[in-house]
Amino acid sequence: MIHKTYKEQLQTWDKQYLWHPFTQMQDYVKEIPLIIEEGSGVFLKDVDGNEYIDGISSMWCNLHGHRRKEIDDAIKRQLDKIAHTTLLGPSNIPAIELARKLAEIAPKELTKVFYSDNGSTANEVALKMAFQYWQHRGLKDKTQFVALQYGYHGDTIGTMGVGGIDIYHKVFRPLYFQTHFAPSPYCYRCPLGKQSQNCSLACLEGLENILKGSSDHIAAMIMEPLVQGAGGIITHPKGYLSGARALCKKYNVLFILDEVLTGFGRTGEMFACFHEDIVPDIMTVSKGINGGYMPLAATLATEEIYHAFLGEYSQLKTFFHGHTYTGNPLGCAAGLASLELFEQEQILENLAPKIQYLRDGLRRFGALDHAGDVRQCGLIAAIELVKDKSTKEPYPWEERVGIKVCIEARQRGLLLRPLGHILVLMPPLSIKMNELDRFLNIVYESIQHAV
Ligand SMILES: *Cc1c(COP(=O)(O)O)cnc(C)c1O
Repeated sequence: MIHKTYKEQLQTWDKQYLWHPFTQMQDYVKEIPLIIEEGSGVFLKDVDGNEYIDGISSMWCNLHGHRRKEIDDAIKRQLDKIAHTTLLGPSNIPAIELARKLAEIAPKELTKVFYSDNGSTANEVALKMAFQYWQHRGLKDKTQFVALQYGYHGDTIGTMGVGGIDIYHKVFRPLYFQTHFAPSPYCYRCPLGKQSQNCSLACLEGLENILKGSSDHIAAMIMEPLVQGAGGIITHPKGYLSGARALCKKYNVLFILDEVLTGFGRTGEMFACFHEDIVPDIMTVSKGINGGYMPLAATLATEEIYHAFLGEYSQLKTFFHGHTYTGNPLGCAAGLASLELFEQEQILENLAPKIQYLRDGLRRFGALDHAGDVRQCGLIAAIELVKDKSTKEPYPWEERVGIKVCIEARQRGLLLRPLGHILVLMPPLSIKMNELDRFLNIVYESIQHAV
């Protein structure tokens, strides 16, 4: 804990100098800011010494809890060697080792690892690779993309262009390249008005119509597998992913999977694509890549994609892309330590009972008056709050019900961040059963108090 006057100074400086992401600062400056000083396991501690369960895994990336000795030590060991050196030209040991490891755990066709430093850039790389691949293959009209409604792939202009969340993406529309949006398989609010028990995945027809009509112009489809995160934790029906993959193959369109959120155990498998036994042409990972320690991301590609970029230098087939901190040794060392933990602690094997425990624990939420839909995929869960359960009428977004619930939760020792009226439950994979009980009890009480 820090001295009181210093704490007050920090609170003042936070409002004076910091512009927080995805935050209406006019509201923010009216509140006392929450300033985190330290953390341990699934808990965060603020400058007053209050403890909170990290219910959003520090923005969906923490896997093994905070201050995991194995990862801390790996970073310290690497610090004694070198903190940063560029991959533009020279290589470095952790970057090589981690690339090898990633290729080993990914679907075996994905053999090449291209590093960057966040999810947006990993996807930006994927889009550029897909586009340039067809240029090299001589299909120069393939310049457009397909994405899903409510999809989220990052905040750079390119990735916003394939984003389907109006409140974030609409204002920038004039800046984007051409993207076709297929209906999201959002069963609770089915775009086709079907019931998920007997819909036969009719939403795939919408995708097929786009591909059938425009595949000569489409370079790739990009989507989040199994669950669309920022779009509202929209969990997909079984078969959608493999169906979309098959359609892209049928129409000669590359298939990019954005596993930035779903990668590294979140869904119960190492990668979400394993649930439906499919292999994308390009796969992006970031959030959990090193247990949520440092900025790092990777775009994995097949030999086929990689080979299209080979040629004499003068042919200009080089992939001209790279960031200053690409393949940062500290981040890669943390990544290796995180993947070692997966093996040593058999994390994937131990997740299954935890996922089931969460499923059982979520059951009672369905009875709450305003819990319209309760969804789960692995250790990702969401509760969609609605004004009227029988009509599914949403709360007007101005009512900020999600925020109200999160304020209640914070007072009870749980840190959450909603997506509008959708409560997101995303604990670190390392959360223990008794901590999960506490987590769910707080969420339940907070909903009862707030809505
Ligand atoms: C968070 C996220 C991104 C963007 O990652 P950043 O590191 O925030 O740029 C991209 N895709 C998905 C699915 C995400 O959840």
